[in-house]
Amino acid sequence: MTTPVRTRYAPSPTGDPHLGNARTAILNWLFARNQGGVFVLRVEDTDIARNVERGEEANLEALDWLGLDRDEGPVAGGPFGPYRQSERVESHRSRARQLVADGHAYRCFCSEETMAADRAAAIATGRPPGMDMRCRDLDPSIAEEREAEGSTPALRLRVDPGPVEYADRLKGALSFDGADLGDMVLLRSDGRPTYNFAVAVDDLEMEISHVIRGIGHLSNTPKQVLLYRALGVEPPEFIHIPSVLAPGGGKLSKRAGAPGVLEYRDRGYSADAIVNYLSLLAWSSEDEQEVFTRQELIDRIDLDRIGASDAEIDPDKLRWMAGQHLRRRSATELATDWVALPEVSELELGQDDLERAAEVFAERMYLTTDAIPELTAVFADPVLGSEEARGVLSSPDAAMALEALAAVWAETEWAPPALKSAVRDAMQACGLPGKAFFQPARIALMGSAHGPDLAAVAYALGDARTADRLRRARETSLNLISEDQ
Ligand code: GLU
Repeated sequence: MTTPVRTRYAPSPTGDPHLGNARTAILNWLFARNQGGVFVLRVEDTDIARNVERGEEANLEALDWLGLDRDEGPVAGGPFGPYRQSERVESHRSRARQLVADGHAYRCFCSEETMAADRAAAIATGRPPGMDMRCRDLDPSIAEEREAEGSTPALRLRVDPGPVEYADRLKGALSFDGADLGDMVLLRSDGRPTYNFAVAVDDLEMEISHVIRGIGHLSNTPKQVLLYRALGVEPPEFIHIPSVLAPGGGKLSKRAGAPGVLEYRDRGYSADAIVNYLSLLAWSSEDEQEVFTRQELIDRIDLDRIGASDAEIDPDKLRWMAGQHLRRRSATELATDWVALPEVSELELGQDDLERAAEVFAERMYLTTDAIPELTAVFADPVLGSEEARGVLSSPDAAMALEALAAVWAETEWAPPALKSAVRDAMQACGLPGKAFFQPARIALMGSAHGPDLAAVAYALGDARTADRLRRARETSLNLISEDQ
């Protein structure tokens, strides 16, 4: 029987996750879904000093937005809970006590000062530090007695020198010497578990089969391997993935041009684009395809194709990806995305207006928020009193162009290609050169002589609004002409 696939994302609740965290979560999720497995969220909140208020919520919000649903976790619950590390301390303690009972661990009564003095002495005499473990060979019954008398020991794992071997799916066979690790602390004298011990116990008890995480954790892995073996089980499969770097190669940060996940959301990137982009930052598909739906990513994820080198965020590529996903959304979906933006909702447009705008303008956009300037420029009432507008509309040609256009469009089917060819007909009918024809038409519809394709603007505006704007501009034009005379 093969063991069921169970992956986990184990964030510390330190706030809005960065793109590297998000990529770790995405790979764990994709792999679990690909294998018909289980995706677990475990919140690693034992380092109280690092926790921030709302840190867990920000993580959950980011996962929800990215669409990474959890089968088990602090909110979803599940058979291996609790899923907050701080609520699992009893099980860390009992595992540590078990290791003492089995002889794999021992009570250590040395103070920080004693340990530091021993380390300094070792270094001074050229011996490896961390080997003078005074309590290692303490008779267990004496150690128990001291504890009973009120001394509070730390619990340490007995680590013997000698090679220890394990494998990483990407790095291959790895080996280290127990002598380099020393007798690691499992529980501090105040009863708090150490980081590596808590992680190993939790992964073991949650029956995690694959640990997919950032390469930064590679140095923790030898300790965790020793802990698993001391606890009598083989470790899960380890997959340490290369780092995600900020544009230019630095650490991920907002200042370096790589803000947190939720900020990408607020800037108008779609979750599908972020998931797609970060997946491809980790692994490449066999063909050249770059734009994938979620289901395609689930079907194609291949841990063995994860690249070996660190990858930098490329903001232009990410924006391009956002545009690709935006253009795959239907007009109805885009209308729904846009109306949720306060600036767009203020324009008080109907669903049909938004859908027509989506049909013709989506190809100019990358981010959801690009709709704000685009739709405002098109739908806000055109200002005809500006110097530019007055300059253009005061020409007698302007009134003629607007009249010709209104007449032709009044007879045209309201569809972009028909509106476009009607523009040519109107231009011919009035016999004006391009600029003399187009400038007043644009001023009439948008209040500016520049902007997107005229027929597209008219289509988005709809027939009634277009006719009304042409009429108003023509009236203004006629007034300006008569003022001039
Ligand atoms: N809590 C760790 C972090 O946020 C992850 C631990 C792990 O994946 O083993 O970096």
